Amino acid sequence: MAETEKTEVAEKEVVSKNFIEQIIDKDLAEGVYDTVHTRFPPEPNGYLHIGHAKSILLNYGLAQKYHGKFNMRFDDTNPTKEKTEFVESIKKDVEWLGADWEDRLFFASDYFEQMYEGAVKLIKKGKAYVSDLSADEIREYRGTLTEPGKEDPGSRRSIEENLELFENMKNGLYEDGAKVLRARIDMASPNMNMRDPVIYRVAHMSHHNTGDKWCIYPMYDYAHPVEDAIEGVTHSICTLEFEDHRPLYDWVVRELEYPHPPKQIEFAKLYLKNVVTGKRYIKKLVEEGIVDGWDDPRLVSIAALRRRGFTPESIKMFVELCGVSKANSIAEYPMLEYCIREDLKLKSPRIMAALDPIKLVIDNYPEGQVEMLEVPNNLENPELGSRQVPFSGELYIDREDFMEEPPRKYFRLFPGNEVRLMHAYFVKCVGFEKDQDGNVTVVHVTYDPASKGGNSPDGRKVKGTIHWVSAAHAVKAEVRLYENIIDEEKGVYNEEDGSLNLNPDSLKVLKVSYLEPAMKDVKPEERFQFVRQGYFCVDSKDSRPDALVFNRIVSLKSSFVLPKKEG
Ligand code: ATP
Ligand code: MG
Repeated sequence: MAETEKTEVAEKEVVSKNFIEQIIDKDLAEGVYDTVHTRFPPEPNGYLHIGHAKSILLNYGLAQKYHGKFNMRFDDTNPTKEKTEFVESIKKDVEWLGADWEDRLFFASDYFEQMYEGAVKLIKKGKAYVSDLSADEIREYRGTLTEPGKEDPGSRRSIEENLELFENMKNGLYEDGAKVLRARIDMASPNMNMRDPVIYRVAHMSHHNTGDKWCIYPMYDYAHPVEDAIEGVTHSICTLEFEDHRPLYDWVVRELEYPHPPKQIEFAKLYLKNVVTGKRYIKKLVEEGIVDGWDDPRLVSIAALRRRGFTPESIKMFVELCGVSKANSIAEYPMLEYCIREDLKLKSPRIMAALDPIKLVIDNYPEGQVEMLEVPNNLENPELGSRQVPFSGELYIDREDFMEEPPRKYFRLFPGNEVRLMHAYFVKCVGFEKDQDGNVTVVHVTYDPASKGGNSPDGRKVKGTIHWVSAAHAVKAEVRLYENIIDEEKGVYNEEDGSLNLNPDSLKVLKVSYLEPAMKDVKPEERFQFVRQGYFCVDSKDSRPDALVFNRIVSLKSSFVLPKKEG
């Protein structure tokens, strides 16, 4: 045991550390912090997407790696946009990804009192003042990148007057927008965020947690560092757009004199090419009925990826492949597909399914006979064991495995050709039937009883192997095949009107597919490989025991090549 543990540690140390780990190592070595404490701080105003997964797994992963702590914190300081519904969906998604916050679930709104006291402290230090300027005036007074801002008349107020006015703000004496509290920093700062930013505003609004207790609410740039400091967060990891806000973050924790101030570190967001992540756009797709909810399997919200059949492990592999950096880059969806194939390759049973079925009749098979064939569940992973699959004289095969007039290099069934029925027998096509419209309905074959198990009895070779399902035993199911909801040729947005360029063929529904009888008792979210077809997942929303629905997670074909590791 100790042996293997040692090699594992050694192997891990060979992997180069990302820039955040390097900062943490330095902080620990220099005694800046003696522990690592991270958090994931979503605003409960929508569903999480693949980008958030990166933030979740990064923060949780660091806490794990350094034997520190990870907080789940809802940044619910803005009563206008938040909904309890989102709190529940976010919790479910973070849990599903495996980020365990244990008993550290927090709500920023629980700190309103402390935030208020902090603001009073700033006023008492002469570091904050009440302003009467309107939002427009504040913008005007702020100046430009080349010109310094103008002094706010409110900044001349005495500490006593500011304390009184701020208390009045809290007590509801003013209308929304009539007064704000500003931090007194530097109206000439080259960083616009430091030009006396607003830190509290009046908003007569009910809050989902605190109800009508408050009619003043803190601004994000003030609230966030306070939340981190209260919770004892050491490394507050956020995305690049907050880089210019870091001086303000540092100002807040310094002026409020926290004994162990947290440190903000920014990394580049994860972008996926040709996907929709904007809440506004997804909302529209839902409202227009183009998708069947925020968890439609064609979207990349975490709920949608879960429903489509992605595993937490595949998402983790994907964000790890993307890496952590300060430089923006765009990842490709095929890389995510690569990850799920890799994850499911050995884990999932491989079963046979005729997605677009036609009948195959074996003319010389004894009438009424049924054989049970022992079939391995996963040829590459014997640990998954085997199952019994019924074989009979009437089967279903996939329509595309038969052609009346085959092109060159078509090795599947056509008149006169012999193929292998996977795990079963060699069969030779001796005829076929068509309906009035010219569609093939039945293919007739004869089988060679000496080829049982799919083995050649006399050294003769067949080039094609096709899958099948015994007709009398088959389980019926609906199968949904997906393509990108975005037209990849055109890109996500229409340049003229900003609308989405949708792919009209993003969903194909096969109403009647036939699966092996082993699929009778599947559970929602169970995943399988349908041999030669792809990986499929039982739909958690629409599948019923007597009306199964499967989503294709991904096909088996891939053009993606794993990028070479640098260095
Ligand atoms: P909004 O624009 O509504 O604030 P948001 O996507 O920033 O949306 P938050 O709830 O603020 O949502 O995000 C929670 C956390 O997830 C933040 O720390 C944020 O930096 C991080 N995050 C958001 N989008 C991405 C992304 N694409 N890649 C990595 N991290 C992200
Ligand atoms: Mg945000």
